[in-house]
Amino acid sequence: MPEEIVIIECQKCGQEIGRLSEFRGRQMLIVNGIATTFWRGVCVHCGREFHWDMGTKALAELINNREQKE
Ligand SMILES: [Zn+2]
Repeated sequence: MPEEIVIIECQKCGQEIGRLSEFRGRQMLIVNGIATTFWRGVCVHCGREFHWDMGTKALAELINNREQKE
């Protein structure tokens, strides 16, 4: 099992969207048991658009901040 897991939450309402984890040496977003490098959708709780991919620097920085807090 991966050691470091970062929970990705909706930036508006805080609903958990997925978990960021190392999978076979690569950072992957895991949603409902599916490891993905790209994820796009809408939060079912508040309607905010959600877009995640490996190349998104702003989100990567957000994730790094979360790692430092935990
Ligand atoms: Zn939301």
